Formats: sequence, structure tokens, C-alpha cells
Amino acid sequence: MWNAAEVRRDFPILERRVYEKPLIYLDSGATAQKPACVIETVDRLHREWNANIHRGVHYLSEEVTTMYEAARERIARYIGAAAKEEIVFTAGATASLNTVAYAWGERFVGAGDNIVVSEMEHHSNIIPWQLLAERKGAELRVLPFDDEGRLMTEKLDGLLDGRTRVVAVTQVSNTLGTRPDLEYVIARAHRAGAIVVVDGCQGVVHGGVDVARLDCDFYAFSGHKLYGPTGVGVLYGKRALLEEMPPFLSGGDMVDRVSFAKTTFAPVPLKFEAGTSNFIGAIGLGEAVRYLERFDSAEIEAHETALLVRATEELQRIPGLRIYGTAPGKCAIVSFNVEGVHPYDLGMILDKLGIAVRTGHHCAEPVMTHYGVTGMCRASFALYNTPEEVDALAAGVERAVRMLR
Ligand code: PLP
Repeated sequence: MWNAAEVRRDFPILERRVYEKPLIYLDSGATAQKPACVIETVDRLHREWNANIHRGVHYLSEEVTTMYEAARERIARYIGAAAKEEIVFTAGATASLNTVAYAWGERFVGAGDNIVVSEMEHHSNIIPWQLLAERKGAELRVLPFDDEGRLMTEKLDGLLDGRTRVVAVTQVSNTLGTRPDLEYVIARAHRAGAIVVVDGCQGVVHGGVDVARLDCDFYAFSGHKLYGPTGVGVLYGKRALLEEMPPFLSGGDMVDRVSFAKTTFAPVPLKFEAGTSNFIGAIGLGEAVRYLERFDSAEIEAHETALLVRATEELQRIPGLRIYGTAPGKCAIVSFNVEGVHPYDLGMILDKLGIAVRTGHHCAEPVMTHYGVTGMCRASFALYNTPEEVDALAAGVERAVRMLR
């Protein structure tokens, strides 16, 4: 049985009060709170280990380089990568996805090719592909979802052809909570000769991933959503693909030999880690993974699903409230609107009650367009949330709606 009260003690910020009320943090989908061990690791790194990695023979540099590479190894194991060389540290998921779109895309996408993206993607898994298509004279094709929020994978074959180079799809929608059938998408895309780029930002947190078993080609996520520091992320790529892909950013640290006539590059993954990388963030992310490994991931998932079920039941009782995204197997994200109430107004009243939810388009404007709305309220749950917080959300929404109407 999951003990949320005990887990909460690991997260110092959850003791905070806002407007003299206990903080009820239901915005972990935007960024998750950090356990004390991550905060302390980052603090100790600055106090005791700060030295640039991969550059010095001196004691501190060697020590911190070892820690950085150990974090890479831990993260590789955590997501099921075949080798640590398949893990590139980036500034976050957005940087990871742009790296693929620029580096792989520049070399392997040309005029007349096409790229398939799903309608439920976050902007960071749409715009890099849209810009690539514009640069190259390629076509962007969209795989739609239905009103339940289910990705219509039965339409995928109709979009794929011999000129499809990339299929970009999320593991979990940050707005609808939907988990598309990735195994199916990947198998069909591969059969058509396309690579599959998976946005794992929410998926790595809710249920995790085994990239080797999934057989995706690239997988991107951000550290800050996985209880780690901000400003660090991961790009997983199959080794052969990383090796044939040219560098994206260039400069220090990513080279083998440099002369004015010709530069050769460091082996993967360093070829993609130009400049001083966020080594403190990467080691902090390794610590977040070490923290998560203490738990049974199935127990975390069961806890989050119970919160989702409770929230869905309670919110649905409120007259005029509509939940967006009701696909079977969805994860612990609930987006909703109440008839006649603006989501910003609702979010602001909830805030005054100490309840932090997300309001707006959630960087997924095509999802808003699908439902003909400009924004939604979103509650997203994490391992530290409790049933009492779910009840407070439902009571808060009811109260806010009464006031606003
Ligand atoms: N993809 C999804 C599904 C997300 O939820 C987010 C962040 O909200 C991103 C991508 C972008 O992540 P970041 O801003 O950390 O690069």
C-alpha cells in the first residue's frame, strides 16, 4: 500500500503554505517537485565538487566526470537503453527533439518526403518538424485523435508511404493523459521505413519506459518533470542512428581533432554535448532516478491511477464540467472546463485556495482547436499527492464555480 504521507516528507516544498493555506500542488505535469536528496546533491556538487568535466586531469575534475558518467549509466539502465553511449545529455526535452529535427532531419529528410506527427503533441514535438518540413520542402501530415482523446492509429497506414521519414508521437499526452498504442505505431512506421521519435516527457514519469523493448529510434524527456533539476534532459537514440547523425551544436568538448582544414568529432554521445554541459543537473537527475528506484514503479502507478479515478468521479459530479480525454488506460492527468466559466478565472480562485493547477493551452494548441476552446484547467498528479488533495480540488472547483456564476 502506497504511503503518500511518508513520501511527502521527502519533498520539503510540500510543507509550504500559500495565502496561509497548505500548498496543494497539482501541477507536476508542468514541473515536478524535488526530493531532498536531489536538492542536497545539487547543493553538495556546488560546495564540494564543482569542476568542469572531461577537461582536467586534476582531482575534482576527474571525480565529477566519474559522477557524470555514472549518472549517464544509471539513466541508461532506468530507461532500458542497451548502452550508456545511447544517452545524450541535453538542456531538456525541447533541446532533445530539436537535436533530432536538425541533426538527423538535415541529413535524411528532403524535398517530397513527409513527416507524420500526432494531433495531440506538445508544441515541442510539432514545431521542430514543421520548421524542418518548411526548410526541406517536405510535407507535415497529422494523425488525428477522436473526441474521447484516443489516437486514431487506424488512420496511420493511410498517412504512411515510401516517402515517410519520421513519425513523431508522444508516449503520454500532457493534456489528455492518453497513452497511444506506441508498439503499433512503431511497428507500422518501421514497416514503412520511417524512424519513430517518441516524446517521453510525461511517459517516463507515469509508468516509465523500456526503450529497447519498445524499439523506438529516439526518445526525449526533461529532468525537471522526473523529480530532477531544471535545465537538463535526455535524448536517447539508437547507437547506429546517433553515429550516422551529424552534430547539431558544435564547439568545445564534442571534438576529436580540430584544425582549420578539417575537424573530426568525439564518439557518441559526446559528439552531441558541445560546450560545458549541465553536469550538475545531469548528476542531480541521476540522483532523482536513484530516488525513484527505491520504489516499486507498479505501486506508484497504482497510486496515481487511484487519484485519477477519484478525481474523475468527483469532478464529473459538478454540473456543466467537461473532462477532456477519457481514453481507456489514460494516465493521471485531468483537463477540464466548466460551462460558462473561463479556465483562467477558475485557476485563479483555486490558487487563492492554495491549489496549484495549470490553466491555458498547455503548449498544445491543436488540442484546444480540436475541442473549440482557447484553454483548459489541468490537474496532474504525482507520487506525493493524496486523496484528500483530490477532494480539496473538487470542493475548490465547486466553490469557484458558485462564485463565478
Ligand atoms: N513534451 C511534453 C509532453 C511536455 O509535457 C513538455 C512540457 O510540458 C514538453 C514536451 C517540453 O518540455 P521542456 O519544456 O522541459 O523542454
